Amino acid sequence: MSAAVAAGKSPGRPGRSAWMQRHLDDPFVRQARAEGWRSRAVFKLQEIDRKDKLIRPGLRIVDLGAAPGGWSQYAARKLGGRGEVIALDRLPMPPLPGVAFIRADFTEQSGLDALDTMLGGRPCDLVMSDMAPNMSGVKAADNPRAAYLAELALALAVRVLTADGALLAKVLQGEGFDALIAGARASFCRVAMRKPRASRPKSREIYLVCRGVKR
Ligand code: SAM
Repeated sequence: MSAAVAAGKSPGRPGRSAWMQRHLDDPFVRQARAEGWRSRAVFKLQEIDRKDKLIRPGLRIVDLGAAPGGWSQYAARKLGGRGEVIALDRLPMPPLPGVAFIRADFTEQSGLDALDTMLGGRPCDLVMSDMAPNMSGVKAADNPRAAYLAELALALAVRVLTADGALLAKVLQGEGFDALIAGARASFCRVAMRKPRASRPKSREIYLVCRGVKR
């Protein structure tokens, strides 16, 4: 038996990239597959939700950067048919029961308009954003783009959340991080930071849980 198989890993195949091999060997990828989740990202939301009690039946939830759909899938399952999930992504996402999907770019006015139309003026209980730009690996380029997505999510949350609603948003540590936290603290009564186990230790991503919109 090879060392990889003995260690519970899939044996490397010629031509398979190192990234793909690491992905296939990732325990969260394996668990997501075994449990029928669309992405390993679901375990980030699950851990945060277990701690912060964000999702319960009856809520109206917006999921920004939803594809391939792990977070929406988890949210819809927890709502159990009572409540609403509105998911948005610039990439296509196969349908999910209990989830209304908008294919749009959230940085475009047309994306915001599509979301507003779907909401029809109804307030939301939870805005979640796992949006991430395509990473170039160059921090000076990636950080501002990631910060901009987080800022847009924050602005939407302040506009559409109920007074006791919550925002869960991915942010990148590094340049622009302190300004984002300051912006979150200016807009919300409570801001907590979470680094779930499924978030790779090397990744600079961290999640903000913001509650109580200051109006
Ligand atoms: N939470 C998802 C899940 O559980 O499957 C994974 C989200 S993935 C890490 C980030 C997503 O953000 C990608 O699908 C990407 O297309 C989306 N995204 C990035 N920029 C966006 C934008 N400007 N508008 C809409 N979606 C965007």
